[in-house]
Amino acid sequence: MRTFWGPDFGALERDDPEIADVLLDELARQRDTLTLIASESFTSPAVLAALGSTLANKYAEGYPGHRYYGGCAQADRAEELAVERARELFGADHANVQPHSGASANLAAYAALAEPGDPVLAMGLPHGGHLTHGSRANFSGKWFHPIAYRVAPDTELIDYDEVRDLALAHRPKLIICGATSYPRLIDFARFREIADEVGAYLLVDAAHFIGLVAGRAVPSPVPYADVVTCTTHKALRGPRGGMILCREELAQRVDKAVFPFAQGGPMMHAVAAKAVALREAGTPAFQEYAHQTVRNAQALASWLTAEGMRPVTGGTDTHLALLDLREVGVSGREAEARCAAAGIALNKNVIPYDPEKPAVASGIRVGAPSVTSQGMREDEMRRIAELIGLAVRCDPQTAAGTSRLAGIGEEVTGLVRRFPFYQEQEVLA
Ligand SMILES: *Cc1c(COP(=O)(O)O)cnc(C)c1O
Repeated sequence: MRTFWGPDFGALERDDPEIADVLLDELARQRDTLTLIASESFTSPAVLAALGSTLANKYAEGYPGHRYYGGCAQADRAEELAVERARELFGADHANVQPHSGASANLAAYAALAEPGDPVLAMGLPHGGHLTHGSRANFSGKWFHPIAYRVAPDTELIDYDEVRDLALAHRPKLIICGATSYPRLIDFARFREIADEVGAYLLVDAAHFIGLVAGRAVPSPVPYADVVTCTTHKALRGPRGGMILCREELAQRVDKAVFPFAQGGPMMHAVAAKAVALREAGTPAFQEYAHQTVRNAQALASWLTAEGMRPVTGGTDTHLALLDLREVGVSGREAEARCAAAGIALNKNVIPYDPEKPAVASGIRVGAPSVTSQGMREDEMRRIAELIGLAVRCDPQTAAGTSRLAGIGEEVTGLVRRFPFYQEQEVLA
């Protein structure tokens, strides 16, 4: 007979009541507040079970069949399943499932495709790019020569003509597309054309939207990119971690760039959990989630418009929307704090050509993966938009504002409790 040793909360409560307390409070927070953070979703209990498993103990430096440690038979099986599922789901020649995070995956991709000092063309941070796309505070901006493209001031869409002009002028070794706060589809074919014209590699950083690709709700970058990097914990709904997909010719370079260049031993419990998530992502239920996530984000964007907020680019094709709050007269920072006081988690975000500095910002970013995972649909998005509209207009400096925010918070809790999840953990609380 085989027995599974699963997460034992009783042991944690006995041995470390302080951390047990943190975990109970976090479960309560996730259940009782509204999560509109665009980069988060709720993993399945199956993913959490794999994460809390004994594979966490295993060192498995290297790759299946070529490890630097003994006892790796099960680690090999987990990794082979994860790789096979990723290749099949995304139609990729090769997959590396070891990156610890999206940033680690990008470090490895740079290492596989470019040399320090090489010019790299990527979306500027103020326009939706990620820190790893050339920020001076990050390896990408310190060790490479970043050139930033922007969105057009009128349409707020990527200015492909400018991308091409910059590519011709700077001859980058690497062109990157994919962003953290760009609500529209990206024209991968156009990026491929530009990369081919200047002899650059094309890296698509699909960290945010790979889950929508898996669910067939947006087009796949895989046929166009030399390398696709992504996270597994955003809309894909897996464990925190990263992943790289690439063409066969680049497989060895990518693998060597992950290990031993960028990382040591892989987190095998996370690799097993990635395998679980990738299997789930291949189901019809996941496709329905991905499509509903986009519909919910679109509903949120249009109902927030009715609340006086302007969706950047006029709307969204994806799981997230970026709202310009200048008409409301509230900064992104204030809006984030007011919503938080009402139990709504979202984040401030700069908008293109933002007159405010990033710490203040003129916008907020909202995302639908978490609420969609909970089972909410367009009707709930309408009410959520109304609650956000009310919350951002409450001044917490006044007694009336504070009490209104508390009232909104009660309604938020009532709303989310109609969509319960992680119920099997109830016995613990
Ligand atoms: C989230 C994100 C990353 C980084 O992922 P981490 O797991 O936080 O390191 C990289 N690129 C983009 C575009 C992202 O949105």
